[in-house]
Amino acid sequence: MARYVELAFNIPLNQTFTYLLPEETEVPEAGLIGCRAEASFGRKKLTGWIMAERDSLPEGLDSSKVKALTRLVDSQPLFDHDYGDFARWLAHFYLCSPGEALSAMLPGGRREKELPAMGIEDDPGIHAAVTLTADQDRAVGTITREKGPYFYLQGPTGSGKTEVFLQCAERVIDRGEGVIYLVPEIALTHQMVDSLRQRFKGSMALLHSHLTPSQRLKEWNRIRKGEARFVLGARSAVFAPLEKLGLIILDEEHEGSYKAGSTPRYHARQVAMYRCRKAGARLIMGSATPSLEAWHGMEEGAIVPVKLTERVGGGEFPRIRLVDMRKEKSLFSEELIREITRVTGEGNQVILFLNRRGFSYNYACHSCGYEMVCRNCSIPMTYHKNKGGMVCHYCGYKAPPPGACPDCGSLDAGWSGFGTEQVEEEMIRLFPQLKTVRLDRDSTGKKGAGKKVIEQFRKGEFHVLLGTQMVAKGLNFPKVKLVGIVLADTTLNMPDFRAPERTFALITQVSGRAGRYSAGGEVLIQTYRPEADALALAASYDQETFYRRERESRLMFAFPPANRIYRLVFRSRKEADAQRACEKAAAMMEHAGEKDLLGPSECPLAVVANNHRWHLIIRSDQFNQTHDRIAWCRDTIDLPSSVYMEIDVDPQSIM
Ligand code: ADP
Ligand code: ZN
Ligand code: ZN
Repeated sequence: MARYVELAFNIPLNQTFTYLLPEETEVPEAGLIGCRAEASFGRKKLTGWIMAERDSLPEGLDSSKVKALTRLVDSQPLFDHDYGDFARWLAHFYLCSPGEALSAMLPGGRREKELPAMGIEDDPGIHAAVTLTADQDRAVGTITREKGPYFYLQGPTGSGKTEVFLQCAERVIDRGEGVIYLVPEIALTHQMVDSLRQRFKGSMALLHSHLTPSQRLKEWNRIRKGEARFVLGARSAVFAPLEKLGLIILDEEHEGSYKAGSTPRYHARQVAMYRCRKAGARLIMGSATPSLEAWHGMEEGAIVPVKLTERVGGGEFPRIRLVDMRKEKSLFSEELIREITRVTGEGNQVILFLNRRGFSYNYACHSCGYEMVCRNCSIPMTYHKNKGGMVCHYCGYKAPPPGACPDCGSLDAGWSGFGTEQVEEEMIRLFPQLKTVRLDRDSTGKKGAGKKVIEQFRKGEFHVLLGTQMVAKGLNFPKVKLVGIVLADTTLNMPDFRAPERTFALITQVSGRAGRYSAGGEVLIQTYRPEADALALAASYDQETFYRRERESRLMFAFPPANRIYRLVFRSRKEADAQRACEKAAAMMEHAGEKDLLGPSECPLAVVANNHRWHLIIRSDQFNQTHDRIAWCRDTIDLPSSVYMEIDVDPQSIM
């Protein structure tokens, strides 16, 4: 009797394909599901994953049309039936094909992007066994005792969250279950890996993007066989094939790198929640600055909050002061100049931050701090010099730039923007006697250059370290007594509804680290909008009020966590095609009953690698319906072959 298999390919067609299993095939003892197989597809030969076996053909498919597999690649499956269900869930949730889902989940399925070498070393990790503090002990107790299944360990840097995670992990492993410990890619330092290896010995597996495909496969099989029960890794380790999953730890939950940047654009938190629910396992998220979504989950009772308030080794939080730039004439306020002089005069060091990424043109009033926002979305509008006007990057709304400030009438308003290079120049002009070093993506072309700069700074070879987020690692050094944020507005005015949240987190994280080892630390924040909640409440360490107000303003404009958002991007070498496709999708979604569409409009990054990009953003409070409508749109829209459609569920960025 003929036997068939269903193959999933890594192509954007939302289905599996039926092939005949050649009679002479040696079927693995564990079955065919989860094995890779080669087959001809159109004129190409593709490798796919076997998702199902069958004894008969699906209805309507003629046996003369069915081709045979050319080769079975694996002699042992990479996953089992349950894992196939997991892939189907991922494909459903993130609106991709099952093959695209599997390619992100399995080793060697997806070509990994080249990432910078492992991060700069942090402070030494845990070595000897420690006695938990009362705070930590209570946290472990709550997490083991209560049902959960979702927990959030919130506590400032240095409050000993890691030790709580690890003690919970040890208990789970002692019960014979498995643990996945997720960290942002940048946090995976050699030191961290070494100290965890000492602790978990041979039962640890490491999954990260620098492994070769065969190394990954080897780790994968160790996990599948149950040899490794403690899996450490970045985002994609959330797919580790543990048979008896007991716990997932998601450290630094607020980090943007937990969201995948290509199809399927999954969020590790979402996937972890699904897995834990399915497996009856627990999820512990942790951070000093939870995402607003997670905070909302705690408020609603869906996530159990667990707090650490004290720093293990003591240490004071630095004083945070806002400097009102409306009264200043140069990039460096008088106050910042005074403090740099004082701190370096006392033989200590300074770190200057400027979070200048991508967009440089904010329209703002330098007299009153007014900032132009879109009337539909309340997102800061971006000045486009070449178009001579203001544009909203969410909905495409356009407006001429006001001649004078609409709020106070001042003529000292307009677009402004400067980057780290300009700050460096100014720094050298003001302080020729100080040794300043700049650290950002432009200054660290070579691998390891950043690490070297930080090392030199640690040794005291420079007075001032100036740069983008990359300098954050230097914040732990005892000689750093002053951290200056050169212009907080660059983060705050990003055309993104999460800009205030990110600004608040940035300041909280910066000050959390700055005071960790050094008493009498200072944080100075320069801004044109000192009254903005994200700044004022961060400076007064008032997290609760910030989250509460931020949620309210999100509610008002129907952004998450009140709603879900979806983003459809259409890209093509031909701009007219991208635009037309986007308009077509908008019409279809509207016709299907979707009410809250933003756009179609050009993406903020309108051209990437010669591809023109248009997008449509959908806000929805009816998740299932919107989801089905997008799936319907994707499956039925008639697109020219020049157009590629990307779907992003819960986008973290709309660039
Ligand atoms: P967090 O993850 O909250 O930022 P860490 O886990 O890095 O904090 O803890 C800060 C420091 O305190 C680390 O060096 C860690 O080794 C140490 N530490 C944590 N818990 C204890 C404890 N119970 N006793 C002694 N030292 C501890
Ligand atoms: Zn004004
Ligand atoms: Zn808008």
